[in-house]
Amino acid sequence: MSKIGIMGGTFDPIHIGHIQLANQALTEKELDFILFVPNHTPWMKHDRAVTKAEHRAAMVELAIEDNPAFKLSIVEIDAGGNSYTWQTLEKLKEQYPEDEFFFILGADSLLSIEKWAHPEKIFINAVILAAVRDDCDKAKLDKQKEKLTEKYHARIQLLSMPPMDVSSTKIRQEFYNDSQIRNLVPEKTATYILQNHLY
Ligand code: ATP
Repeated sequence: MSKIGIMGGTFDPIHIGHIQLANQALTEKELDFILFVPNHTPWMKHDRAVTKAEHRAAMVELAIEDNPAFKLSIVEIDAGGNSYTWQTLEKLKEQYPEDEFFFILGADSLLSIEKWAHPEKIFINAVILAAVRDDCDKAKLDKQKEKLTEKYHARIQLLSMPPMDVSSTKIRQEFYNDSQIRNLVPEKTATYILQNHLY
């Protein structure tokens, strides 16, 4: 039985916060590998245009290709339409019936997970690994963990990662010059962004 980490996201673009989060989960929880799963259409982010899925997947692929423990899964992109984590986990269960899933997320996602479709199905199929982020402190995260554990019997473990002040929103919205972009996203991804004039 393998311990498989699952990192879902829009990855518009993937950045060093995502990579740091995945690395922390991999080492702290001794996972066998991590699947990065870019969504097709993030239905909770309908208020803005999202970069084409092919570009987002390509950026992920370039960011992780040198790490044998990181793999790209295009299960959500192939499915098309709105992406729902509960559905993705059920599909991945068919591919990996013997294995244990660890869904990796940042504090903002843990705080909003009850707004996602069928959170109870997510909690059945995966242990949740959550990291602090931005101004969400540990006390707030502890409280949310307690609430979800009581309400859904969720299995939630907090990762001991120092907060990293980076987000895809900032990368999209702020004006960064080429060398600043290279500090926020992995090297090959940065080259891809600049060559394709994505942001
Ligand atoms: P956006 O700014 O567009 O909302 P994002 O930077 O939050 O994007 P997503 O692709 O939506 O990136 O995130 C995927 C997962 O990674 C989410 O669970 C999110 O909480 C987590 N994550 C992203 N950035 C960080 C960070 N700096 N620290 C911890 N977790 C993070």
